[in-house]
Amino acid sequence: MKLVDNCVFCKIIKGELPCCKLYEDDKIFVFLDIAPFNLGHALLIPKVHCHSITTLPKEYLDALIEKAPEIAAAVMHSTGADGFNLLLNNGSCAGQEVPHVHLHVIPRFTTDDNIYFAPKKKYDNDEEMNELADKIRSRLG
Ligand code: AMP
Ligand code: ZN
Repeated sequence: MKLVDNCVFCKIIKGELPCCKLYEDDKIFVFLDIAPFNLGHALLIPKVHCHSITTLPKEYLDALIEKAPEIAAAVMHSTGADGFNLLLNNGSCAGQEVPHVHLHVIPRFTTDDNIYFAPKKKYDNDEEMNELADKIRSRLG
């Protein structure tokens, strides 16, 4: 079964919960976030229940990414935004609350809107940075 019973976003896809739908095709579903960072904040979700982008089947990931610029452009034009953030929280430690992959499109009007990430960190030295890069590279195809 591609969709499950105990997931808010699966229920939205199935029409069991109301939403403000923007777009739908055979792979993805797009709707307005009910508690937006800015008005027009949209969510793109795959039509398959999957917790993490790391295990999302490629055809669903492709469909999400391919549609995002068009959704973002439509949101910008409709809201008068000058830009947008794409955000994907993956894992509860990263702020993911709904365990069904979702890509946020957040329209931005100004840098002065209290939407920001924490101050950046620093590597202690180049060696620490290079060691970590080596470790990551060793796991890539
Ligand atoms: P995240 O913190 O990345 O898991 O984001 C989950 C997002 O889903 C939040 O921005 C919520 O406001 C949004 N959300 C949760 N339930 C609903 C719902 N029923 N309809 C629309 N958006 C929702
Ligand atoms: Zn789901």
